[in-house]
Amino acid sequence: MTFEALGLHTSIIRALSDAGYTKPTGVQEQAVPAAISGRDLLVSSQTGSGKTAAFMLPALHKFATAADVMDTDAGKTPNQERQAARARGDRPRFQAAKPKMLVLTPTRELALQVTTATDKYSAYTRRIKAVSILGGMPYPKQMQLLSRNPEILVATPGRLIDHMESGKIDFSELEILVLDEADRMLDMGFIDDIEKIVDATPATRQTMLFSATLDGVVGNMARRITKDPMIIQIAGSATKHENITQKVHFVDDLSHKNRMLDHLLRDVSVDQAVVFTATKRDADTIADRLNIAGFAAAALHGDMHQGARNRTLDALRRGQVRVLVATDVAARGIDVPAITHVFNYDLPKFPEDYVHRIGRTGRAGRNGMAISLVNHAEGINVKRIERFTKQLIPVDVIEGFEPKKTASAPRSAARKPGGWKPGDKRTGPSTGNRDHKPGQRTFSKPGSGTTGSSAGPRKEGSGGYKGTRSGETTGARRSFSDR
Ligand code: AMP
Repeated sequence: MTFEALGLHTSIIRALSDAGYTKPTGVQEQAVPAAISGRDLLVSSQTGSGKTAAFMLPALHKFATAADVMDTDAGKTPNQERQAARARGDRPRFQAAKPKMLVLTPTRELALQVTTATDKYSAYTRRIKAVSILGGMPYPKQMQLLSRNPEILVATPGRLIDHMESGKIDFSELEILVLDEADRMLDMGFIDDIEKIVDATPATRQTMLFSATLDGVVGNMARRITKDPMIIQIAGSATKHENITQKVHFVDDLSHKNRMLDHLLRDVSVDQAVVFTATKRDADTIADRLNIAGFAAAALHGDMHQGARNRTLDALRRGQVRVLVATDVAARGIDVPAITHVFNYDLPKFPEDYVHRIGRTGRAGRNGMAISLVNHAEGINVKRIERFTKQLIPVDVIEGFEPKKTASAPRSAARKPGGWKPGDKRTGPSTGNRDHKPGQRTFSKPGSGTTGSSAGPRKEGSGGYKGTRSGETTGARRSFSDR
């Protein structure tokens, strides 16, 4: 199958060839023709599967084809009409932006990534401007972007609502609505905002919803907002990362964990790595410690200003940051092909987050490695992840870093994922959550073989968590930093 065979506009084919894409991915092969035909779509596909292009290419095709027709009819586009009005000295103080397409994303990083991908795919498509409307971006800058009347808006729900309510955006001409990572948006508590936004769009719109799962609450919402959708499920499961090798290393305590992380980060096969922590404060602390130990490390979390987040991500893309220490919300959507390793310094609260975390490696068809450093009391959480992904995560032991205890049952390939029972062979009692005691962190300098140490109290990883998800444990019901 080729992109030409999907019937895409020549301007898009040219851009895809510049991007080095030789053939459509599975999700693109199915979604693009259906979307071009105008159908609503419900798509469950794994992260890194090429889903952005799956919704953006057919949209761009539609706009490019309409622009060709407009040329033939010699009609004026809305933006040309605005320019003509301005030339006549006819200057309304502010005209609401009237986008043709809206992409809603859970996080700012994902929104920026979608906008960047759109710019790439539309490099030769005339009359297409895509802008991101995000929390954390200064209002004057956003007003300036909106005054250009972009055809495509990529937005996080909270900030978008603010602009809708103040009359800066008018969705009466919207043709295409995309909900990207819809499950995550719902998890973050955006359901009311989404409903409000959907209600403000014309019933004639085409709707495409992408989600890790189409079950439960997401499925109910998906059915409400789509018409006769085509359901696309790639590889039967959104949760298998078959190109990513997964491992668990058991650790005795914080010091053991830190020494092991230090050792693993020196592995020559580590090009770039993301280390996930449970809290924003730990992300900062561990990034500082790793820097002291000589790694080019940086933190990324929701308490950082958008400018600082963007600079860190740029440095990661340019390879200046080798180890990114991040929380779940901030790291979602990071797409850097040189990330070879993901480390779970802390396990995520929810198995879905594990899937998103490890999807930061193994991008664009490469292989990746995902290593979880797990204390003995967390075996149950590993089991929950295995049940969710229907995959066994092998336990590995590094010579010289053997845990004193073997609290989890040794597992063989024959064992079913998540198949442990309370009575399974456990040697030694569970000791409680030892990692979450104030403790000492030690990292040694790369190549030095020496061990430096620095003491620091550890923040409790589960302090602010109240049962719904914000993605970062100090967050309230939803992360207001995303507004
Ligand atoms: P996504 O799932 O949209 O985040 O895409 C994951 C990665 O795959 C991104 O780096 C894209 O640039 C890349 N990608 C998307 N479609 C293709 C394709 N057809 N061929 C090669 N790479 C692709």
